[in-house]
Amino acid sequence: MREASTAALPPAPGAEQYLAVDFADSAYVLPGGHFIDLLGTPESANRWLAERGLAPADAGVQEMCATQLRVLREHIRALFAARVAQQPVLPAALSAVNDALSRTPTAALLQWDEANGFYRTALCPPNVDRALATLAADAADLLSGSGADFLTTCESVPCNRYLIRHGRRHWCSTRCGDRARAARAYARAKSKTD
Ligand SMILES: [Zn+2]
Repeated sequence: MREASTAALPPAPGAEQYLAVDFADSAYVLPGGHFIDLLGTPESANRWLAERGLAPADAGVQEMCATQLRVLREHIRALFAARVAQQPVLPAALSAVNDALSRTPTAALLQWDEANGFYRTALCPPNVDRALATLAADAADLLSGSGADFLTTCESVPCNRYLIRHGRRHWCSTRCGDRARAARAYARAKSKTD
């Protein structure tokens, strides 16, 4: 296939319905080992949040907060993986999501040391704290609701995106579906000539 394989994929089925699916899919692998991370930098993380109305465009997301988003995403992906495989969940992933769920904007505490005198601790902007809680809450709703029965991973290797299955479709995008079909046709043709 000649199309630009590094172009970003459109949202997976269910990503518009479940913010948590959209979040889990914000990093993915494309054929050829291309890795896309929409939260890869503080600026791109801020943009991702702003596009979803979770933070203003000028929220001033710093690397520390972008890291917190990426860490939460990995924990949510771990819970999704456990649900899809019907495996026990990692307690660390569960408690990380619960910590984010109960997260509220915290006060920048007053600090003092001899070198600096009084100063206040750096924090994520309150919007980002709320965004983390919102994303965790959406994951909790999805996992504990009937939608979880339809949660699945894209079956087109090497894609690792999650989607909500509709009918028999197990691909996150037309591009992945075309690739999976082409791979199957190739395997069939190969088995005939071997
Ligand atoms: Zn896919």
